[in-house]
Amino acid sequence: MKDFANSNSFSGSNPNISDPIESLYIHVPFCTRKCGYCDYYSINSELANFDQYLSGIELELKAILVEIAKNDLQLNKLKTLYIGGGTPSALPPDVMTSIIDLIKREIGFTDVLEFTIEVNPEPVGHQTVLAAIENGANRISLGYQAKQDHLLETIGRLHTNIDFLETLRLIRVYGINNISCDLMFGLPDQRLNDVLQSAKQLIELDIPHISFYSLILEPGTLFYHKYNKRPDLLPAEEVERAMYHSLLKFFQQNGYDYYELSSCSKPGFYSQHNYNYWTTKPYLALGPSAHSYYNGTRKGNARSINKWLADPEKNAEYEKIDLFQAMQEYVMLAFRLSEGFSPQKFNRRFGQEHPFTSELDHLLKQGLIYFDPIRMSYRLTERGLDFANQVFIEFV
Ligand code: SF4
Repeated sequence: MKDFANSNSFSGSNPNISDPIESLYIHVPFCTRKCGYCDYYSINSELANFDQYLSGIELELKAILVEIAKNDLQLNKLKTLYIGGGTPSALPPDVMTSIIDLIKREIGFTDVLEFTIEVNPEPVGHQTVLAAIENGANRISLGYQAKQDHLLETIGRLHTNIDFLETLRLIRVYGINNISCDLMFGLPDQRLNDVLQSAKQLIELDIPHISFYSLILEPGTLFYHKYNKRPDLLPAEEVERAMYHSLLKFFQQNGYDYYELSSCSKPGFYSQHNYNYWTTKPYLALGPSAHSYYNGTRKGNARSINKWLADPEKNAEYEKIDLFQAMQEYVMLAFRLSEGFSPQKFNRRFGQEHPFTSELDHLLKQGLIYFDPIRMSYRLTERGLDFANQVFIEFV
């Protein structure tokens, strides 16, 4: 970690404390089966006690509302709500409805609410998706990953491409057009052409938002055990990078804006909920393993449903983010976004000049960033896209 000599010389507090809270994430920790690469916290849905989970959500929300009142924080009606997991469609429809009713009652929704629910393209859970839509969900994030059935099987997904197409058809019949799909690259046995064929199908289906992720071997996952010592079984690094750049180019050629390192969208369809994260605005979170950031504090809930049920507040981990840390996070996250790091926006957010001149100069000299005179911001170069982590660590 670098020694920032001037890190204590700033006055004021983390602006996240005084921002109004307008976003909420709910983690549904149940899946039909664990995918080989997945590090998200979930348990087998056959073991789930849904009533207990619902009571846990109610209790945690009550505790958070008490804390918000105690600290005199501004909680507004929600502008974004994201129900993710796990597999939200694994909930019974009445539990889904009860959760949404609870949030509506206790916090409320604005008229411009972006309400996303994650859906797996499995032939189950359609009634739950319908229940969510009838109660206000207006955006679906659909776990596509790849077009090729043999790759879906390799990574442990339960769906086929036919299931994906059928779920997509139903979602559109239910009236949802704001759809995001996840696409994975760097998978075992995956070729560049597979990735482009997968992307092509999404473009032909007119999916307005696409998130594209490289496979990451997370410790503790099945894939970590299988491939960590056998990286030769995965696409070589230069192939993986070629996949990324080819995707970026392909999407841009087809009318998508790349607005974040792993996300592109048709105009007007960017994820407002995620944009909130990337601009360090506050968000609440409910459910085991869920992370929130408000009142200048990051909170990580217990990665165990039992611990979370026993006492969601006491069993969570907290980290107070001071003003300088907030500045560091702000600049790092700004480089994730294609709009880049704007000194003017920094000034508006923090009420003072940014303290990172020497870090920016260093990155400019390395050719990892450039200054865009039209946007008046620093942005990643082509090379910076490949070495984004090197850019981020410059600020810590
Ligand atoms: S369905 Fe999603 S959350 Fe569940 S194991 Fe697979 S990738 Fe992870």
